[in-house]
Amino acid sequence: MGYRIGVILGDGIGPEIVREARKALDAVCAKYGHHFEYEELLLGGASIDVHGVPLTEETVAAAKGCDAVLMGSIGGDAKTSPWYQLPPERRPEAGLLGIRKALNLFANLRPAYLYDELRAACPLRDDISAAGFDMLIMRELTGGLYFGARKTEEVDGVCVATDTLSYSETEIRRIAKRAFDIAMKRRKKVCSVDKANVLDSSRLWRQVVEEVAKDYPEVALSHMYVDNCAMQLVMNPAQFDVILTENMFGDILSDEASMVTGSIGMLSSASLNETKFGLYEPSHGSAPDIAGQDKANPIATILSAAMLLRYSLDLDEEANALEAAVRQILKEGYRTGDIMSEGCTQVGTREMGDLIAARIME
Ligand code: NAD
Repeated sequence: MGYRIGVILGDGIGPEIVREARKALDAVCAKYGHHFEYEELLLGGASIDVHGVPLTEETVAAAKGCDAVLMGSIGGDAKTSPWYQLPPERRPEAGLLGIRKALNLFANLRPAYLYDELRAACPLRDDISAAGFDMLIMRELTGGLYFGARKTEEVDGVCVATDTLSYSETEIRRIAKRAFDIAMKRRKKVCSVDKANVLDSSRLWRQVVEEVAKDYPEVALSHMYVDNCAMQLVMNPAQFDVILTENMFGDILSDEASMVTGSIGMLSSASLNETKFGLYEPSHGSAPDIAGQDKANPIATILSAAMLLRYSLDLDEEANALEAAVRQILKEGYRTGDIMSEGCTQVGTREMGDLIAARIME
């Protein structure tokens, strides 16, 4: 089949890690007889250098014409890069927020998976990490507290700041539907996280999630309060499959979940809208400290490409093959510097990409 893939190389290590992810996608194409047409799009610092702004109408229009977009991280060193002399709305990060908004990417997915070979990096107790974990946090990205009305005012001579946490049933339904659809591709479990013992928005959240669940009889739904979830993530992470939650809770829990894996260079992510379209990128930043040195771990970006295959193109078998190739390479003992341990073979960005592409082809 033929697909059109937008490619944002990004800044810092972005071009190096995206290059390796494309290698993996090309190997998938060669093995399974697909054809990907790539279109390079500018965003962030790279766009500022050419157009003076971090996001242009052309990039948005071109992204809309693609089946999915694969992206390296954007941004530079805030202390030394001239991009950070610009006003905030013209800095690289504004481009990222802008494209998420322009493409209506309301669902953010961050998997947290513990590879047996990387267990030593997991900060949890051995008896907990021994059980492994494989979860996916589905965070609502465009509503809730971060987007509600806010003000700071003086009331009776005292300064008062107010933020508003508001969700409509439409916003909750569309993210819940996404979570259940994705659970159907996984172990068919959804844990919806809220604070329904206190917040009205959480009570509505719970009610709508239960309504949506009726359309997915094969998926087991549970509810958990957010404070309990924060504890369970470090006490018993193996219990989770898909965690569905609102914007702020998801912001905090997804960082907690990813950090218990212990390996920043391994963490993929996706942001989806109501169609099949998605923007796929590593969870880490552009690592300007190691850019251009063949030191970056390309695996987070390669795993983001696997998510692209699964969630935007419905190529599940191909996504599984790519993930299996990553596992195989780790099993064979190959490591980039960030995940290196004794007895393993250290390789650079390019070689890691070559090895994974070769295993896909086997
Ligand atoms: P960072 O994630 O880029 O780097 C933190 C540390 O992790 C650094 O030591 C870096 O070398 C290392 N690291 C990160 N990714 C790695 C990889 N794949 N392989 C090996 N080591 C890796 O975070 P930061 O330094 O705080 O941010 C740098 C820039 O990235 C900033 O401009 C920031 O705004 C931007 N950023 C962008 C995104 C995004 O594009 N979504 C996300 C986070 C940060």
